[in-house]
Order: sequence, then C-alpha cells, then structure tokens
Amino acid sequence: MGPFAYRNGALHAETVDLARIAAEVQTPVYVYSTAGLEANYRGFIDAFEGTPPLICFAVKANSNTAVLATFARLGAGADVVSGGELRRALDAGIPPERIVFSGVGKTAAEFEQALTAGIRQINVESRPELELLSEVAAARGLRAPVALRVNPDVDAKTHHKISTGKSINKFGIPWSECPGLVAQAVALPGISLQGLAVHIGSQITELDAFEAAFRRVVECFVGLRGLYPDAMRRLDLGGGLGISYEREAMPAFRDYARIVRRALAGVDCEIVLEPGRALVASAGVLLTRVLYVKEAEGRRFVIVDAAMNDLIRPAMYDAFHRIVPVREPAAGAALAPVDVVGPVCETADTFALQRPLPTVRAGDLLVFADAGAYGAVMSSVYNSRPLVPEVLVKDDGFAIVRERVSDDAMLRFERMPDWLKPRTVADRSASAGRR
Ligand SMILES: *Cc1c(COP(=O)(O)O)cnc(C)c1O
Repeated sequence: MGPFAYRNGALHAETVDLARIAAEVQTPVYVYSTAGLEANYRGFIDAFEGTPPLICFAVKANSNTAVLATFARLGAGADVVSGGELRRALDAGIPPERIVFSGVGKTAAEFEQALTAGIRQINVESRPELELLSEVAAARGLRAPVALRVNPDVDAKTHHKISTGKSINKFGIPWSECPGLVAQAVALPGISLQGLAVHIGSQITELDAFEAAFRRVVECFVGLRGLYPDAMRRLDLGGGLGISYEREAMPAFRDYARIVRRALAGVDCEIVLEPGRALVASAGVLLTRVLYVKEAEGRRFVIVDAAMNDLIRPAMYDAFHRIVPVREPAAGAALAPVDVVGPVCETADTFALQRPLPTVRAGDLLVFADAGAYGAVMSSVYNSRPLVPEVLVKDDGFAIVRERVSDDAMLRFERMPDWLKPRTVADRSASAGRR
C-alpha cells in the first residue's frame, strides 16, 4: 500500500501507527500521507521526462487545504470547479497563474472572483457562459483568459456516473459547434481565447479512450490554429486517469504520459493536465473501528463506525475499496466472507458484500484503502453524523487538518423561527390573560 504498510504487526502511515491516531483522534477519520502525496505528484511529473506540463491538481478530488498546500510546495497548480475551491486553492498558497476554473455552471459572482484573483484560465463550456463571461470581464475593462472545453463524443469506458465526454453528457461544447464558438470568442470584447480543453471522465483505465479524445482535440486545435494562431496556444487535456482499487492491472503514469506525448507530437503548445484521483487516492485511507459483529441467518455482518456519509463511493458508484485490518493477520490466517456495513439507516450503507476477511472482532480497527480521492470531499452529515475529520501524517508525526465537527457546531447553523421558539413564562401568562 505504498506509504501504508505493516510494521511490527501494525498498519502504519509512514512511521505512525494507525492505532495511535485512532486513540488520539477517535474514529472514523481520514488519514493522508505526505510521502504518498509527494510520491504521486513527483511520479506524475517524472513520467513526462524533462518536459512536464503544468499540473493543475483537480481540487474536487481532495480539497483539504493542508493537502493543497502540500502540492503547492511541490509547484502544483489547481483545477477548481467553484468559488469555494478557488478560495481554498489561493489560501493554500497555489499561485493564481497556476489555477484553471472548470465546470458547466459558473456564476457571474464566480467570474468576478476569478478575474479579481487573476487566474490563468477559465474553461468555458457553452455559448451563454462565454457571453456572460465576456460581459462581466468587459464591464471591468478586462479580457478573461479562456479555453473552450470541447466534448469529443468518445466513450471513456468508465462508470456511467463519472463519464463526461459523450455527447449525451452535460459537459463541454458539442463538437459541431466548436468552430463557430471559437470565431465568436475571438470577436468578443471581454474574452482572450487561449486554446481548447477536454476532460472525458474519471477512473479511466483504458488508454485508448484518452488517445481517441486527445487525437480529436489536437486535430481540431491544429485546424483552428491555422485560422487563429494567437488564440490557439494552449491545450488542457483534463484529468481522469484511473487507479487500481482492486490491485487490477492499470496504466502507469508513464503509459499515460506516452499517450499525451504521442497525441501532441509535432504540435508546439503549452500543455495543462488536471489529474485528481491519480494524485491523492492511494495517499489516503479511511480509518474505522468495528462496533459489532452480527450473525444473521448464516450471514456475518461487520458493523463499523464509518458510514456512507463519510465515504459514499461504494453506495454511489458501486465502488470497491480494499479493506485492511490494522492489526496484521497471522500469516495464512483463514478468510471468511463478511458484509461490511455502516450504521446509517440505508441499505446502501454497505461497503462490501461477502468480502473475504480474516476474523475481525468488535473494537478492531480497519481501513478502507485508496480513500484519498472523492472521500472526505463527498462526506455529509446524513443521520446527523458529525462531519468526518482528517489527519495528515508526515514522517513520525501527524496533525489534525480538519477537526471533527461537534454537534454544537452543527446546530449553530440552524435557526428556530419565532413561532416555534420555546415560550417564556411571560408569554404564557399573556396568552392565558387573553383567553
Ligand atoms: C473531476 C475533474 C478532473 C479530475 O478528474 P480525476 O478523475 O480525479 O483525475 C479534471 N478536470 C475536470 C474538468 C474535472 O471535472
């Protein structure tokens, strides 16, 4: 598990025993490894051998500001999809000139925020969005740096809920409208067109899908460049590279880099990539404690204190996460199938069905592996469960980088309307007097 490995019979993050984190912070808790984040980032950069593109980490995969600051120190940029993510990226020290802003539904207020910050590029996904951005920028006497996100209509061959590059998906500009929109962008007063962008989906495990998308976009780019040389300087090839959740064979960073280089052979332009999952998934685990082991009709349920509100990927995408005991099982320990479930009142609150695991008992600690991407960021407070905390490990130490949110803090955001407020004694006697 890279930065997560057994030492002296206990699973560690770098050289910190996960049982120590569980004792000090309580469970459930996300644990990230600095070494894991750094190794992923450096591995990705190194795969491009000397000519690394600008790596804009897709903040939505893990937006914890300590994680962002770790990447910022390595020179990473950020791909953000909301004003909130932009704020986080800036707070974490990512320079605005390395930030790109994606998403189908950006608001005028978000355009203002992006222009004020002076970010590198706004990825525009429709004609009305382009027109609104031009208005907002022109009103301030600015030209917004823009890449047009095209929808290449290729099948990313991934889960349908995370596929974005087919014409039926809401993302990007339809292929046929691209030349017309480029002409319009070049003419608009508030737009400075920089190039094209593409992103076909997430957890993509077949390089052919990338290759098909990149080829289409590069072809379009080269054609348009003949007409508008100044507006076609930059290609943003998005993110989407998958990781090996089940230890299945997976394209390495180098294979992916080779596809990028091949698609761009002979095209001299600036390249932006937006990897999210591939940089963070393997650098995080969700640490949980077994509450009960319940036997029912011959089925064994392992009920843990993490739930779908903390890690929704299994419920939402039928995703698989390896489940690893913190106490190292004896060599050759027998495995028996169990259902690993959380406490939330939903059948979907199931992490694994009939998963072969060594014997686990109440009180044991387990981790869900490869939970550093789309884990904590998608957590909720469903069932009034407190927002899950996050810990960042570095070498032999760790820091809480998001506190466990208390019930008091959660209730502070709620307001009781006057008519439901508990009545005071004076109120009651006044209404008694009226009767
Ligand atoms: C989600 C997203 C990414 C990152 O996707 P990963 O699969 O996490 O690499 C990159 N770019 C855009 C536009 C996205 O929406």
